[in-house]
Amino acid sequence: MKDFLNFIDGEFVATGKTFENRSPADNRVLGRVHEAGRTEVEAAVRAAKQALRGPWGRMSVAKRVELLYAVADEINRRFDDFLAAEIADTGKPESLAAHIDIPRGAANFKVFADIVKNVPTESFEMTTPDGGTAVSYALRSPVGVVGVVCPWNLPLLLMTWKVGPALACGNTVVVKPSEETPATATLLGEVMKAVGVPDGVYNVVHGFGPDSAGAFLTQHPDVDAITFTGETRTGEAIMAAAAKGVRPVSFELGGKNAGIVFADADFDKAVAGITRSAFENCGQVCLGTERVYVQRPIFERFVQALKAKAEALKIGPPEEPGVGLGPLISREHQQKVLGYFERARAEGATVVTGGGVPPMSGAWAEGHWVQPTIWTGLPETSALVREEIFGPCCHIAPFDTVDEAIALANDTDYGLATTVWTTDLSTAHRCAREIEVGLCWINSWFLRDLRTAFGGSKASGIGREGGVHSLEFYTELRNVMVKL
Ligand code: NAD
Repeated sequence: MKDFLNFIDGEFVATGKTFENRSPADNRVLGRVHEAGRTEVEAAVRAAKQALRGPWGRMSVAKRVELLYAVADEINRRFDDFLAAEIADTGKPESLAAHIDIPRGAANFKVFADIVKNVPTESFEMTTPDGGTAVSYALRSPVGVVGVVCPWNLPLLLMTWKVGPALACGNTVVVKPSEETPATATLLGEVMKAVGVPDGVYNVVHGFGPDSAGAFLTQHPDVDAITFTGETRTGEAIMAAAAKGVRPVSFELGGKNAGIVFADADFDKAVAGITRSAFENCGQVCLGTERVYVQRPIFERFVQALKAKAEALKIGPPEEPGVGLGPLISREHQQKVLGYFERARAEGATVVTGGGVPPMSGAWAEGHWVQPTIWTGLPETSALVREEIFGPCCHIAPFDTVDEAIALANDTDYGLATTVWTTDLSTAHRCAREIEVGLCWINSWFLRDLRTAFGGSKASGIGREGGVHSLEFYTELRNVMVKL
């Protein structure tokens, strides 16, 4: 039986209070996770605080950057270990994790090391009332101990997206991975130790949210800033905790993203793009499109083409060649998604394809599978069109004009992402300007340049991370005024 231990002050720590980690693909027990209590969270935060004052705080940027490069190299050297851990925890296709999760997990350390090494700060010179001169210059200093609370859908990638810039900026971190996916955060502890990152710089506490490690961490007064990716509702709870002590938060939250396909789009590319945005990672991507709007002249043809693509997706376990769709993360999440499938039927939706559980054989029958599902015919007021389902499903509705498409896209509390398919430049730029999101993809989806800003508007988040934007959250900018 594998034990997933906490990583505190450079040591792996058992607590004796454990919960099971199960495989989404066949529900087998992968191991026991040692839940951190207040004592362990306290120890982790204390270690992080001490490391700030110790060797990490005194380390030159050049040396820090060198260590972060070593972290990335060590992840790549242990690529197969990380890959095995990630697909065991998530059940996602190996091809996907090998292509996105693990390489990006490593890249996040190098990208932010480069940014911190190369980004300048501002300087101004001015004439003073006495006719003299004064010079101002800016210094960036770390914000302190950063609490990092993570979801389960892209565990290593989303965690390092925060830990990479936090460490590059000279902070120390206490990470609370999702209770569903404890493995890669734990493995990263081994990497930190192997390459010589000082003890206490990177800490991991396992457990749940309320009355557990997540709440203990975010309520801790010595946690100087909190970065969180997960559900909007959880963000509200964390924001309430962060209000005590007026501690800054960076939030990447839920979405109910619109995909818009204009009649002039490259049809095949649009179908391929929406197939990915609706079904990749079994629909468990915050950027995914659960609302698809298609211009009327191509509506029927588009629905049929997406149906064919959905039905051609091979459903299966991670290692099976050609698999395009894995399981949902947990039994609980499967029940939630199936609840929406049921509700669609009850509300009179046309089920274009899917709507149930696919037949699986042998041990895989115990996994949390659902069919890729497409609906049409629901009103915009339906819960299926308004609430984030986080499964491999979408509702497709027709529209006539650009105005109408933009109004439909904006008719939501969320504002994370959109994907727009058109060959008309003016239409593309108008959508980019008027759709209220943090991320707008034109003729593409989930194409990332890590130097660019990432984040959501409205109920989808607070702040931007990525490139130099991460520095706004992970550092304090100090102005120094020198009277000459
Ligand atoms: P979740 O909010 O349920 O859990 C996320 C993390 O928060 C977990 O580690 C959990 O243990 C912890 N947590 C829960 N309650 C807490 C509390 N009261 N205090 C402190 N910590 C607490 O989210 P999830 O189900 O793991 O992930 C799916 C959600 O994440 C979806 O809504 C998805 O849209 C969102 N997401 C957003 C982005 C983005 O970039 N905007 C990226 C990925 C996922």
